[in-house]
Amino acid sequence: MPRPRAFCLSHPETQTASPIRPARNRRVGILMAALMLASLPALAHAMEEPASDSVAGLADLQPASPGQHDVSPAELADVGSDDWSATAVLESGDTLAGLLASFGVSHREVHAVVNAMSDIFSPRQLRAGQEISLMLEPAEGDGDGQRLLGLKMRPNVEQDVEVRRNGDGYVAQAIQRQLFPSLNAVDGEISRSLFADASALEIPPATLAAMIRAFSFDVDFQRELQPGDRFALLYETLHERDGQLAKPGDLLYAELVLSGKPIGIYRFTPKSGFTDYFTADGRSVRKSLLRTPIDGARISSGYGMRRHPILGYSKMHRGVDFAAPTGTPIYAAGHGTVEKAARFGSYGKYVRIRHNGSYKTAYAHLSRYGRGIKSGARVKQGQVIGYVGSTGRSTGPHLHYEVISNGKQVNPRSIKLPAGERLKGADLRAFQEAREEIDALRERHRPHSTVIAVR
Ligand SMILES: [Zn+2]
Repeated sequence: MPRPRAFCLSHPETQTASPIRPARNRRVGILMAALMLASLPALAHAMEEPASDSVAGLADLQPASPGQHDVSPAELADVGSDDWSATAVLESGDTLAGLLASFGVSHREVHAVVNAMSDIFSPRQLRAGQEISLMLEPAEGDGDGQRLLGLKMRPNVEQDVEVRRNGDGYVAQAIQRQLFPSLNAVDGEISRSLFADASALEIPPATLAAMIRAFSFDVDFQRELQPGDRFALLYETLHERDGQLAKPGDLLYAELVLSGKPIGIYRFTPKSGFTDYFTADGRSVRKSLLRTPIDGARISSGYGMRRHPILGYSKMHRGVDFAAPTGTPIYAAGHGTVEKAARFGSYGKYVRIRHNGSYKTAYAHLSRYGRGIKSGARVKQGQVIGYVGSTGRSTGPHLHYEVISNGKQVNPRSIKLPAGERLKGADLRAFQEAREEIDALRERHRPHSTVIAVR
């Protein structure tokens, strides 16, 4: 399918050649080591609480001895599973109540079940595709009617919800499932694209996205990555008992080696409570402005003089166009105050943010505004301020992004961003400890022997 042509009508499209050419040498050097850290209560606990700093928990870990773990509650709940008489799948538009009624469960029982459950789990959170096991028996004296003895389901990988009949009523129970954390060290080389090479290494997409976000202040992923550059990650994953990936965990460390120059960043949570990534000397990767205020977009027109392919005249393009589907969220490039959130001539639906005395950013052709985005609203870096659209003079869905310095549009790529804040005092000392722990883990899990050649 051809890519949609999307650009500002006043700025003729120019094909921007991708810096990542299909490499002739398609061999990917894959060095990978993974250590299962099964049944370690400290880590398991740390991972149940996303807010906690799991690095601290990792420090005390010793390799697990096999056969040490207890039977999980989830297993106990499975005992007697033969009694489950039906499995239903929630379809789009279905409600739990509607589904139970379709099995002949009386209105009174449906009401009692939903009531019992709502203390621990909102049935509204159920999505289409959710499987629900039911335990039913024919109701006395009622042709098609059935009595519900119990139901159970797994609304997310970490939790089972079970409801059982208890006398005349129902009792609901949420059962925390035991997942098994694993630490993964990966080292790869860019041969096709970061995405393709990371996928070949089975790096979860969410982990890769965390890495791209953390580096996006310093690295222009559209232009700076070249075949032969390297990347390394140390990240956690959570697994089912049978080893299957249940969900990605935290990215602890990420490294890019661009043109032979390595940049390594460490995950750390300062006293402020805001988890972030820091360079080895304790400097936050977070800069005052994002270079790319949108995920996964392709630059369809860069900043600078553009020659119209048909009319032949040249015109200055004072922004960067990112082609992306309608509805793609757009982020505030930095902290600031919304100066304008309204239709603005050929820009269509338009948002402008004032960041400080000298910098503003502007976002044009939006399909709609983000929640609470209006003139005077304060925004945080990364907050959704609107969604990609094609309003105003535009030929297709894209974001037109401008950086305005002292009243003039400038090339977002050329501005010098101030370095991120450096940790101080107790935070810096805590970070240095965390960094040493991560370095020790990297050393211990250093990818060593396995080399897989991908053709
Ligand atoms: Zn534009």
